[in-house]
Order: sequence, then C-alpha cells, then structure tokens
Amino acid sequence: MSHKLRPESLMMTHGYKPELSEGAVKPPIFQTSTFVFQTAEEGKAFFEVAYGLREKGQDENLGLIYSRLNNPNLEILEDRLCLWDKSEDCAVFESGMSAISSVLLEFLKPGDLMLYSTPTYGGTDHFIHDLLVKINVTALPIRPDHTKKDMIKMIEKSGKADRLALIYLETPANPTNDLFDIGRCAKVAKHFNKKYKDKKVHVAVDNTYMGPLWSHPLTLGADIVLYSATKYIGGHSDLIAGAVLGSKEVIGRIKVLRTFLGNMVGPHTAWLLLRSLETLKVRMEAQMKNAQAVANFIKYHPKVKRVHYLGCIPQGTKEYKLYKKQYSSPGAMVSFEIKGGEKASFKFLNALSLIKLAVSLGSTESLAQHPASMTHIGVSDEDKKAFGITSSLIRLSIGVEHADDIIWDIQQALEKV
Ligand SMILES: *Cc1c(COP(=O)(O)O)cnc(C)c1O
Repeated sequence: MSHKLRPESLMMTHGYKPELSEGAVKPPIFQTSTFVFQTAEEGKAFFEVAYGLREKGQDENLGLIYSRLNNPNLEILEDRLCLWDKSEDCAVFESGMSAISSVLLEFLKPGDLMLYSTPTYGGTDHFIHDLLVKINVTALPIRPDHTKKDMIKMIEKSGKADRLALIYLETPANPTNDLFDIGRCAKVAKHFNKKYKDKKVHVAVDNTYMGPLWSHPLTLGADIVLYSATKYIGGHSDLIAGAVLGSKEVIGRIKVLRTFLGNMVGPHTAWLLLRSLETLKVRMEAQMKNAQAVANFIKYHPKVKRVHYLGCIPQGTKEYKLYKKQYSSPGAMVSFEIKGGEKASFKFLNALSLIKLAVSLGSTESLAQHPASMTHIGVSDEDKKAFGITSSLIRLSIGVEHADDIIWDIQQALEKV
C-alpha cells in the first residue's frame, strides 16, 4: 500500500474521523464556543501546549479548548489546505485582509524595512501606507523588471538593510497579470540573511490569483503563502475568509497572534470552505478552460486593443519562461483593454447580461469590473500610468458557465460599444 493519494482525492476525507462524530460521513458543524475537559490535568496539559509553555509530545494532539484557539472545523480545513500547498501547517482567518494584516504585524516591527510588489491589492496597499508607515515601517515598492542587483542596491540605499524583515509579493499582479519572480526575491532575502546572521528575512506571497491549484510558492522559495479564501477556495461568492500557510514555526507564530487578535474564521464558514474544497479542482479547471476560450476570442476582436492573460504571453520571452516556472496553468483571470476610454468601458460593462458587474473573483459566476474606477480607484494617477491601469482596462473573472454563453455575452456587449 505505497500508493500516495493526490490532494483532490483527499479533499473529502483527510483530517476527519467519522467515528468521532457518530459515523457522520461529513464533518458536522462544531457550532460551539468551548470544549469539555475530561480532567483538570488534561485541561492544564492542553493550555501548556496552546500557550507555548512546552512543546507538544510526539503523539500528543493539541486538545480542544475554546473556539478562538481551536475548533475541529478549522483544524480539518487547515489540514486539507496544507495538502495543496505542500505546507507543514496552516492558519485560517475570518478574511483575506485579516490573514494579510496578521502576517504583516507578526513579521514587521517598528523601524523595520519591507519590499512589496506593485500594484498590490487595494486593502493591502492601504494597510501598508495607512498603518505600517505610522508605526515607522519603511515600505519600498518593486516592479517586475527589478533585478536581484536592483533590489539589493535599493535596500542598501535606504540605510536600513540591517532591518529588512519582509519581502511581500502578489503575483500575478492584480489587475494587469504582471509576474514577479519569487525565486529572485528569495535570493535577495538569502543575501541579507547571510549578511545579518541574527535576522531572518521572510518572503510572503499572496497566491489568491493562482492558488492553491496552479502555483505553490513554498516550493519556489517563499516562506509564507497567503490567501483570500473568499475567492477560488470558497468559490461561490457566499463567504469571506483567509488563510496563511508555511512551516510549523511560521504558522506557530501566526496562530499565537491569531489567538490574541481573535480573528480566526468561524466554524460555519470553515464548514462551507470544506464543502468548497471538494470541488476546488473541477471548478478551477473548468474556469481556466473557459478563460482560455474567452482570451482566444477577444484577442482578435477589432474593438479590443490588448489582452493581459498568462495564456497570451508570447513564447520565447523572459516573461514566458517565468510563467512556465511558477505556474502550471494560465489561470482564469483575463484583463483586456478596450478601444476608447472610460466611456467605452462603461458601455461594455453596462451591456453585459450573463456576466455580473461586480468586484471579487474566483467564483462560479463570471464577473467584470473596471479597475481604474473601482478596485484601484485609490491608486495615484502617476502609479496608474506606471502600472498600466488605464481607463480602458476591464478585468474579467471567468466562471463555470458554458464558454459559448460567456463569449456570446462579451460579443453582444462589445457590439454596443
Ligand atoms: C480579495 C483579495 C484580498 C482580500 O481578501 P478579503 O477576503 O476580501 O479580505 C487580498 N488579496 C487579493 C489578491 C484579493 O483578490
């Protein structure tokens, strides 16, 4: 019995023992705030481990205490998410932002320096500029074409090289699908880890766009992987949640902070996510196939100026090499530039009928939005120009509907422009 089951086969059973729940084939919702200890000694032993006063014994499971610390629905979900990302451990949160802000707060102290990729998710950008900067964290933006040498130079020039603590990446970048080289950033972190031996620089990657199916940043040199589980992992536009993955050491730190911020996901949402994980692969693959068909259609449409889709990166380019290294699929997020500015974009968006006009992504239904006036309205005009977030740019998140119906909708809306 040496056969190793694949993640999609384990999504229905891993981490759950029916005999502990009256034989129920599915995990029930453990809608409870607290758990009964069998003895006072047991309660003491559980707390010692939970508060980090001693290491867990080899065969010891952390007993259930209180749902802010642990809960079966959260633990099963965390175990299953680890399978996709080949991770040691995982912590789930009440939102993607909650996961991101907890990582930033845990790995950055006043006076520290961080590098972050641009453009980045609006909420993350806001947290960096309106909170971290106030507690005296210096944040340096990077772009996809920055080489290892450029980044090292930039860090040295800041005068805070000894305080570099975190390199934070979001790749592919939202909404333009620009790619950042995770391995290259891991090399920059290594360079400073060698130079300042008492300090560890962590590399964190927001993998919401391509994970957990098509990219595994921990295998590419990252220390921390982040998700808005609201998107592909949840996949039905009916919940908000987040996740962080990494080594036992990294997640141990994150879980202690989560215990005291109290921003863990609730049992009902965790249960919904378990249901979503069972169909994760079939959903994401169907979405990707549809996205490829959509990209191939709009690529040649006379009213479309340019398509930003991983499947449209020209072969033989540096970007293509990076795409092939980091991703096993072109994904299901397609952005394109329509001929004409905001007026043409709005005409198109208002004419859609099957595709819904809404922000968010990764769900079963197709969604369209206008980044320059919606998700990225807070980006300065100068940065919008630099990042290519023009008034002509439209972002599509492709769902699981019939490809011909999605294409029909796009075609009829483009005709109205
Ligand atoms: C949506 C999103 C977030 C924020 O997640 P929430 O679940 O809405 O808090 C972070 N990063 C990316 C890339 C996202 O798309």
